[in-house]
Amino acid sequence: MIVGHVGIAFGARALDRRETDARAPLLWLLAASVAPDMLDGAYALGQYCNPEGVFSHSLPAAAILAAMFSLAAFFHTRSAATALLVAGLVMLHLPPDYLTGRKALWPGGPVVGLYIYRWGWLDFLAELPVIVAGWWMLRRARFTPRWVVSGLALAAMLAVQSSFDVTTQVNGPRVPRTCRR
Ligand SMILES: [Zn+2]
Repeated sequence: MIVGHVGIAFGARALDRRETDARAPLLWLLAASVAPDMLDGAYALGQYCNPEGVFSHSLPAAAILAAMFSLAAFFHTRSAATALLVAGLVMLHLPPDYLTGRKALWPGGPVVGLYIYRWGWLDFLAELPVIVAGWWMLRRARFTPRWVVSGLALAAMLAVQSSFDVTTQVNGPRVPRTCRR
């Protein structure tokens, strides 16, 4: 899943019904929701092969990320509830990725996933409701700043998602150069 992860973070923020000051900062929820993908990006920049996401999306890798992000969020916000929410969102990154991609469960373990990325139109149809629902929930929650939940923000998210899906539909899924023989 690509931009759908942002929709999940938006939804989580909308469901946080604590006092306004106590609510988890959206930036933390966003960072947690996309943490494994940010690590993928770092590996790609460093030209480091990460086969089937084993160093970013396997259960132990996600658990380590969850602990790190949760701890950092706790020191920043001093809220155990926010820290738990952040840890949960990192782990919640994995299930939708099993629908859209293929991920190793642990080093040397099985690789699972339906891998609908190979059909860009289907991936778009799967991510669209997640993105729209999260955006709509956060908009209804009267989130400020309003630009985050503006029509333009939704259009931008859908544009990023569709450009990814069109690219993979046309070129086929991207194989990291560093993993090619
Ligand atoms: Zn991912």
